[in-house]
Amino acid sequence: MLARLPPYALAILSSYVHECCQLCGQTIEVKPKLDIGGVADHAPFCHIPVYHAPFYHAPLLCMYCHAQWAGRLPIFAMRDDGREIALYASAYYDVPLKQVMTAFKDKGDVSSLMVLYHLMRYVKRPQGVNADNAVLIPTPTTSSRLVERGFYPVLILTRYLSFLWQIPMWQGVARLDNVIHQRGLSRSDRLHNVKHDFYLADPLPTRHAILVDDVVTTGSTLLAMANAIWAEHSTAKIYAVCALHGREAIHLPILDE
Ligand SMILES: [Zn+2]
Repeated sequence: MLARLPPYALAILSSYVHECCQLCGQTIEVKPKLDIGGVADHAPFCHIPVYHAPFYHAPLLCMYCHAQWAGRLPIFAMRDDGREIALYASAYYDVPLKQVMTAFKDKGDVSSLMVLYHLMRYVKRPQGVNADNAVLIPTPTTSSRLVERGFYPVLILTRYLSFLWQIPMWQGVARLDNVIHQRGLSRSDRLHNVKHDFYLADPLPTRHAILVDDVVTTGSTLLAMANAIWAEHSTAKIYAVCALHGREAIHLPILDE
């Protein structure tokens, strides 16, 4: 069932009331559209119907941060064994967003989550997916990491995306407790490390599956998830979405559209 309010709605409401950019701290100048008088630097916000919008669609970043970070990335391609998955990322995993992600994942920092929320509003949405033919699948965490961290960051981001896109979340992909962490391994070692970590606990309920992760580096985790789905549903159409991926010069290949 889809949520009527986004997760962390109170934090969004608080950001709306205080009108401060969650990244740089300066005041967000939200004005009615009639007042902007053709001022070009308000352009990034023109496509958000700010004046009439409910509080949960109000900007969480100032227009400068928005212009610098939001909605700038192309669609990337993850390839494995002749199959291809389109990866939609909201921004690069680089300074300062790298620190934002660390503050959210390691300390549960809510201001950082608000930055990620803002960016995720501008992730391109795969064409043709809707509530009837697709599900969003958060990358499962291991129970040892859940105990270590105390919460499940990807689940929070997936819930928000589910609210934005009005596509239900499905948690039918399960993960074995692999103790070897991905950080520090090469691409082939990563692929090998996670290759058999995932399995389907239930049959996929739709034809389209949208895998969601917080940070994607080589794509090996998502490819392993995709292979677990394809093993049971060979015709499933799979996409991937993440908050942060790569850097300006180091990223997965760009998808030929
Ligand atoms: Zn700012």
